[in-house]
Formats: sequence, structure tokens, C-alpha cells
Amino acid sequence: MENNKKIILTGDRPTGKMHIGHYFGSLQNRVKLQDEYEQYILIADVQALTDNFNNPEKVRNSIKQVCMDYLACGIDSEKTTICVQSMIPEIAELTVFYSNLVTVARLERNPTVKTEISQKKELFGNNGESITYGFLGYPVSQAADITSFGAHIVPAGEDQEPLVEQTREIVRKFNSIYGDTLIEPEIMLSKTPRIKGLDGNAKMGKSLGNAIYLSDSEDEILKKVMAAVTDKTKIKKDDKANPEICMVGYYHNLFNLENKECVFSECREGRRGCVNCKKELAKKINEYLLPIRNKRKYYEEHPEIVDKILIEGTLKARNRAKYTMSKVKKAMHIDYFDEK
Ligand code: ATP
Ligand code: MG
Repeated sequence: MENNKKIILTGDRPTGKMHIGHYFGSLQNRVKLQDEYEQYILIADVQALTDNFNNPEKVRNSIKQVCMDYLACGIDSEKTTICVQSMIPEIAELTVFYSNLVTVARLERNPTVKTEISQKKELFGNNGESITYGFLGYPVSQAADITSFGAHIVPAGEDQEPLVEQTREIVRKFNSIYGDTLIEPEIMLSKTPRIKGLDGNAKMGKSLGNAIYLSDSEDEILKKVMAAVTDKTKIKKDDKANPEICMVGYYHNLFNLENKECVFSECREGRRGCVNCKKELAKKINEYLLPIRNKRKYYEEHPEIVDKILIEGTLKARNRAKYTMSKVKKAMHIDYFDEK
């Protein structure tokens, strides 16, 4: 509001610590974006509770962890507003009003929601028969997140595109009924491909058990790398192999780019054993993560600084959301007690 920078909203569900996939997929980009935009990062605990309602402790404990991961990676609280969703009740209030503008059928057709329901069979049943009202409605709550801060831009991966589209529809509907009030956000599509898991899975993910966390120790990383999936045809140290189908090769490509050609040709020619290759990779990952780990350690030792950043960020964000809420109420003619 106080400057002419465009507003960006991104966020994460606090369901655990952040991993290398998050780093390349979003965190690195946010560090760059904070110089050019007015950036808000929302720690979406209300959204995390939609499918973790029976484990609020996990959500609670992850809020600070996620915040420390941000700060460790270079998110600067002077430039970026880090805030906690549940402490901004205007978002919940907006969600209620927006929920009248979306049909249940439209939510059920949302491709991201559909995929997630099918992935959460334990919680929602084989055919999604146990899906909750809250989970089905989380795209509406996300529309409230985005619009409450007046965001112009939402950086996200392709998987999130239907959610931003849903927000745009809600905004258009709101504006057409109540008058031009809300900003219609645009998606800024992430160009980074999904980071794969060391186990060969097409995605590194918390719940897939294949994540390398930003907060992992050197030993933990070495252990994870030593268990990585390699070219199965290679049995002996001097067998020739194909680094293109090896997860260690894939990670050398990310963390050891300057030496990649040499690693790949030695592997192809049978001049590189997997054990040494993995040790070299673990060393490279550890070198890469060292500054992040050190910075994180500082915040782990100063939890009061993390609290202060979260409290101040949330206060600032709440003020922005209050401003939107007052405009929304005015547009809807439900600003009863504000009327002169
Ligand atoms: P879960 O397994 O619980 O779904 P996750 O590891 O997939 O957890 P999320 O919190 O779902 O983590 O991820 C949020 C966002 O982080 C994704 O929408 C995506 O933009 C990014 N992200 C997560 N994993 C990766 C990955 N492996 N590569 C690139 N980006 C990723
Ligand atoms: Mg996920």
C-alpha cells in the first residue's frame, strides 16, 4: 500500500520441515522475488488442518520450523512479511462470504482437489466418500488468502494452477455482483521441474519418505545418499553404467554441475565406483547446504527472534487483511455499524 511494488502471495502448509524440493521449487525463487515485489508468505496452518485436523500438534510444531527454513534460505523479514494464517481471522471471514460464490460441483471438479482426494484414501475413503466440507472448500479459503493481501501475483507450480484459476473465478463473480472491489491475481508459473527423490520417485516429498531436509545433519545426508538408487545393471565397481538413469547422477547434475561431465564420463567408462561417487555427492550437498544449516542453527538458538518475526509479520499482514475486509463489507453493504 505504501509503495508501488506489486504484491505477491505465496505460502506453505506447516506439515513438516522443508526439503530440497521446496528449495529449488519455491524458496530460491522467493529470495529473488522479495527485492522486486512486496512479498507475503503465508504459513497456512488453517489449510494444513483441513487434512491434519486429527494432528494439530504436527501443524503447531511445524510453524516455527518452516519459518526457520525460510530465514535460513535467505528470506529477509525486512523485505518479506511472514505470517500465520489462523492469526488473521479476516481470512476465515472472507472465506465464508466467498463460499456463496462457488458451487460444490465446481469444487469437486477442481483437478488439484481431485488428485489430492485420490491420494488421501486413508482419510477420505476410496471414492472420496468421507471428504470433509473443510477440505473440499480449501480452494475457497485460498481465494481468501490471496485476495485478503490484495495479491497481484501468485508464484506456484503447475499443480497449483487450478487453485489460482478458482480464485480468479471467485474474484470475477464477486466483482460482478458487488462492484469492482477485489484484485484478480495472475499466476507466475514456476519454471523449475519437480525435484526427484533419491529413491527414484518422480518427486521428493515429505510424505513419500524420500526427502532431504534443509535441516538434515551431514551424517543424515551421507546416510540418505548412500541408499540412493543407481543403475541396477552395475554390480561391480568397474562395471560401465548409465548415469542418466541413476539418481546419484541426477543429483550430481544439481549439486556438482561443474564436475558433472567428468562424473558422467567416468561412470559410463566404468572408471567410477558407486560408493565413492555417492560420497562425493554427499560432500557436495553438504557444502551447498552448509550456509543454510549454519543460519538455521542461529535461529534455532534464538527462538525469540523467530517469534518476533512471526508476530510482527502477522500483525502487518492482518492490517492489510482488515483493509480488504472493510472494502468487501462496504461493497456487500454489510458494513452495518460503519455507516454514517
Ligand atoms: P506432502 O508429501 O505432505 O504433500 P510435499 O513434500 O509435497 O509434502 P508440500 O508442502 O505439498 O510438500 O509442497 C508445497 C509446494 O512445494 C508444492 O506445491 C511445490 O510447489 C513445492 N514442492 C514440493 N515438493 C517439490 C519437489 N520435489 N520439487 C519441486 N517443488 C516441490
Ligand atoms: Mg505435496
